[in-house]
Amino acid sequence: MSLRPSSLRSALAPIALGAVLLGGLLACGGGDDGADAPGAAPGAPTAPATTATAPASPTPSSTRPPTPTPTSTPAQAAPFGGRHVVAISIDGLNPDALRTLGRDGAPAIWSLIDRGTATLDARAEVEQTVTLPNHVGMVTGRPIDPAAGGHGVTWNDDLPGRTVQQAAGEPVASVFDVVHDAGGSTAVFAGKTKFDLLEASWPDAIDTIDILDDLPQLTTDVTADLADQHRTFTFVHVAEPDLVGHVEGWLSPAYLDAVRRSDAFVGRLLEVVDATPQLRDHTVVVLTADHGGRGLDHGDPALADDYTIPFVVAGDGVPAGDLYDLSPGLRDPGTGRPSYAGPQPIRNCDLANVSLRALGLAEVPGSRCVGARSVPVRRP
Ligand SMILES: [Zn+2]
Repeated sequence: MSLRPSSLRSALAPIALGAVLLGGLLACGGGDDGADAPGAAPGAPTAPATTATAPASPTPSSTRPPTPTPTSTPAQAAPFGGRHVVAISIDGLNPDALRTLGRDGAPAIWSLIDRGTATLDARAEVEQTVTLPNHVGMVTGRPIDPAAGGHGVTWNDDLPGRTVQQAAGEPVASVFDVVHDAGGSTAVFAGKTKFDLLEASWPDAIDTIDILDDLPQLTTDVTADLADQHRTFTFVHVAEPDLVGHVEGWLSPAYLDAVRRSDAFVGRLLEVVDATPQLRDHTVVVLTADHGGRGLDHGDPALADDYTIPFVVAGDGVPAGDLYDLSPGLRDPGTGRPSYAGPQPIRNCDLANVSLRALGLAEVPGSRCVGARSVPVRRP
């Protein structure tokens, strides 16, 4: 049931890092913490998420064993209607890189944009534009500020032993819990050791976690897991653009090359999906970023280059078109930075509930990011 290649994680992380990447990693981890603390006073978030019509009623599972019975409607032979979700976060992906590279330079990501529901004008969390707080938002569907129901992870370093639940001061459920409680399998592949926080926080709900800073090895591991395990929900974090951006600068030639490599990685994942009968025509891909970036950093949550990110949903049951045109409940933010009060733009914290919607599952208990309710993803 549980496949935990922890030897890969611990053995490769320190070895594979070149000096350049190590410098970037350190710059990211240390410097990011200087970003503004949650203080944006994110108004009153909308009511806690509930979805009465969903087929499952998951509850936080961090402290209890998973329920092994798959959830499906009687008419469906396969759990989740046969659906699978691959969620991809490309660390530090400034949408201007996709515009600059175009379809020739980033063909895989643009293919998702062209056939899916997509925007290059999504938003990061309001409070901070750094890696760990935004990724915890992605998997919990929460803002950051615990006073507003957020997850409370305000640090961006690798702090072994800490958990999201400690940060929030209360139980915090994740997308992994909901999928796992419904009988699905989950996997995490990440490019920074700080993602150990996910395993520490949801040890029973994440079936396998693989942390590697080496993109070729990550490619090998993710594609093998996709092809062999047919996970219900796979979360993939690609670190390279951020690491290079901190050293060479966002939108520099080296950064754009890192985005090209990230795109090739996405392309390889899509090839494996197409080559795997269980996944082909049954997979929804969600692609976003934790933050953008400008110059050598991304830690200013008030800077458009830092808070503007892509958000793409593509695959089975997802129409093609501009996300805001297709999602009338959402507000196109233009160049602005809306708070959590009032009509919302799509945010990276909508990743969890968009993914669950694609699987026909209820929203993450306690989630506050409501954009997924408006995105036209057909339930299986
Ligand atoms: Zn960074």
